[in-house]
Amino acid sequence: MALTHIVILGPPGSGKGTQAARIAREFGLAHLSTGDMLRDAVARKTDLGVEAETYMERGLLVSDEIIFGLIGTALDAARDTGWIMDGFPRNLVQAEMLSKILEERGEKIDYVLDIDVDSELIVRRLSKRRVCPACKVVYNLDSIKTKAAGICDACGGAIVKRPDDEEDTVRRRLAVYKAQTAPVIDYFRKRSSVITVEGAGDIEEIFAEIRGVLK
Ligand code: AMP
Repeated sequence: MALTHIVILGPPGSGKGTQAARIAREFGLAHLSTGDMLRDAVARKTDLGVEAETYMERGLLVSDEIIFGLIGTALDAARDTGWIMDGFPRNLVQAEMLSKILEERGEKIDYVLDIDVDSELIVRRLSKRRVCPACKVVYNLDSIKTKAAGICDACGGAIVKRPDDEEDTVRRRLAVYKAQTAPVIDYFRKRSSVITVEGAGDIEEIFAEIRGVLK
């Protein structure tokens, strides 16, 4: 599926990052996750990372300027593969900006996916989420267990709980999602069709449903 362009939306903890990684692998697309890009910058302690961290640890959105810089570079790198965008756009300013950037590049969005999950399930899920900072694989203490406790199956690194997965911060991120990101779904609905996928169930079943839609 060369040069397909997909945007995946959904609240934090909806499983959109996990599904985006699967879709990227299945269809040979670049997985453009602004959250991963920011966490890399934080880990490398770049100027951008130091600035972004103060917002991320509080569950707030980082500035649109920071994000636009990251997205331009990422789109250039993915020009020949197509992409799935995960975590962007996060508000209406970013949605408008994405439309403008894509128009300038002569690219368009082929699919908008929206993963829908109840807030209380998200709080429960994220309390059990663990990630590998080195290779970005996501685990869950209940449902996606590592073979050896605390060790990433893919790279052997130590898995950790994201600081912004603490309950207070998760609730703030959900409020930010409702206020700032949910309107983006309506923005896309007015321009193209949005495919809503129920995200409460089994990862494999959700992936099968998405794959069916994309084929
Ligand atoms: P995520 O991994 O997508 O949940 O993102 C983690 C955190 O990174 C968010 O809570 C925000 O602080 C920040 N972030 C990620 N993507 C964006 C974006 N497109 N705009 C603003 N902040 C973002």
